[in-house]
Amino acid sequence: MGRQPLWRRVGYIPQVTYFKPSGIRLTQPKEINLAVEEAEAIRLKDLEGLEQEECAQRMNVSRTTFARVLNSGRQKIADALLNGKAIRIGGGNFEMAARRFMCVNGHEWDVPFEVMIKTPTQSCPTCNTPTIMPIWPWQPGWGKSGPGRHHRGGCN
Ligand SMILES: [Zn+2]
Repeated sequence: MGRQPLWRRVGYIPQVTYFKPSGIRLTQPKEINLAVEEAEAIRLKDLEGLEQEECAQRMNVSRTTFARVLNSGRQKIADALLNGKAIRIGGGNFEMAARRFMCVNGHEWDVPFEVMIKTPTQSCPTCNTPTIMPIWPWQPGWGKSGPGRHHRGGCN
């Protein structure tokens, strides 16, 4: 198969990344690691209520992959909830749906997609110059993706 949907696109990283059962003493709490893309899958499907097909598109993965990520995430949350485990959200295989910008003075920064929609980027946060440009493809470091990853390829 030519597709390599290793990096799942994520539009949102939760602000709170740690949950712990209250009321019981947990010196060494059993902890579950919920990958960022699993949280994103649950967010899209269960919180936003999107169809599976659309969720898969948003995350730039196949439907099967999306279903797998979603189920794995749900299972972890159920396990944590019913067995009194803590949940840590972090890690995983994902790339941010964000754009990286560069200013005329060489500063670089990332603007999350959702922020960009609300407040278009107009100046460099470091030196305030309005002479800025988006960089594409992504630089390594913020998520990982090579050229051409913004198009879903492969044979459907
Ligand atoms: Zn600058």
